Amino acid sequence: MCLLAFLVIVFPVVAASLSSIAPVQRVVVVGGTHGNEYTGVWCIKALDRRSNKLKSEYSSLDISTLLANPQAHFENKRFVDDDLNRQFSHAALHGTDDNDNFPKTVESLRAQEINEILGPKFDADGSKADVVIDLHTTTSNMGITVIVAEGDVLMTRAAAYVIQKCGAEARVLLHTHKTRESRPNLCSTGTHGFTIEVGPVPQGVLRHDAVEKTDQVLYALLEFLHLHNQNSQELYEKMSRDFPSHVVPCFCSAPAKRPGEMSGKIKWPSDPENPNFPAVMVHKDLQDKDFHLVRTGDTLFIDLEGNEISYSGSHGSPVHLIFVNEGGYYYANSGTGIGVAIDAKFSLETGKLVQEETADMVSEL
Ligand SMILES: [Zn+2]
Repeated sequence: MCLLAFLVIVFPVVAASLSSIAPVQRVVVVGGTHGNEYTGVWCIKALDRRSNKLKSEYSSLDISTLLANPQAHFENKRFVDDDLNRQFSHAALHGTDDNDNFPKTVESLRAQEINEILGPKFDADGSKADVVIDLHTTTSNMGITVIVAEGDVLMTRAAAYVIQKCGAEARVLLHTHKTRESRPNLCSTGTHGFTIEVGPVPQGVLRHDAVEKTDQVLYALLEFLHLHNQNSQELYEKMSRDFPSHVVPCFCSAPAKRPGEMSGKIKWPSDPENPNFPAVMVHKDLQDKDFHLVRTGDTLFIDLEGNEISYSGSHGSPVHLIFVNEGGYYYANSGTGIGVAIDAKFSLETGKLVQEETADMVSEL
C-alpha cells in the first residue's frame, strides 16, 4: 500500500486510454445539399471514380456518395423552394412545423427520399448510414471548419483527429442542439453526422484549392474511421498523446433561435420589398474577419445613408463572429445574419463541453 501511494505521488498521472466505441461501416459522402456549392459535387464525383481504390485503402468501410439536391444543383441555386439543410428535424420530416406547404416543396419531398436512403432518422432500428459526411462551402472566410454535434463521441474524436492532421487553418465548431430530434441538418439522418465547410468560395464556382482542402479533410476523416475500426487501441493511444488532457479546443455556436437557423445569429434587417436583400451591408472592417473577436461598440454594418451600425452586445461581449457575409444567409429561409460563437473545449471521452461556465454562456446567447 505504501509503495503504491509512493508511486502515485512521484510519477505523473498518464491519461487513461480513451474508451472504445462500436465500429462503423456504411459511410455516405454527400455533395450538393446546397445546389450552388459546387466543391462538394466535384468531390463526390471524384470519389466515385476512385471507388476501387477506396475499397482497398479503407477496407473496413462501405463508402458511397449521394447528390442531395440534383434539381437545385442543375439550376445552380442554393435551393429551389426551401433550404434542404433545414428539413430533417422531427417536426419538419413529419409535417408538424409551420410549413404550410408540407410536403409539397421540392426540398421537403427530397428530404423524405433522403431520409429513407440514409435513415430513417427516427426509426427504432436505427439509420442505414452509420456516418453521413456532408460537404459544404461558404462565401465567408471560414478556412477549414468541421462541424459536429456536441455529445457525439465518435464524431468529436474524428474532428479532433482531423484538425490535428490539417493544421492551423482547421477548426472545430460544435453545434449544441439539445436533442437529435431538433437538429434540422441533413447529416443528422445518419447515426453520426459530420459537416465540412471550406471558404471563402463564391457560389457556383469551382476552385482547385477549395477542392483540395475539402479532400484533405475528407480523407483524414476516412482514415480516422478506418483506424477506429481496425486498430482503435493504437489510434486512441496516439490521440491521448496528442491531447494528453483529453480536452480539445473548439468554437461553440450560439443556439438557434429562429426557424431556418442552424445556429444563433446577429440578424440583419431586410429590404421591405425583398426579404432576401439586406437593408444593411457588412462593414469593410468586418469583411473576412471570421473567428475574430468582436466587442460591444465595434462596427458591424453600414446602411444606405452611410451610417455605421455597431454591435449592441446582444450576444455577449466579446464574441467570435463566424460565417461573416455568408451568401447563403442572405436567404430568409436559411436564417439571415452573421453567426456567433464562443471559445470552448470539449472532452474526447464524452464529446461534451467541459467547462461549466462555457455551457452557461452558451445558454445565454
Ligand atoms: Zn452549404
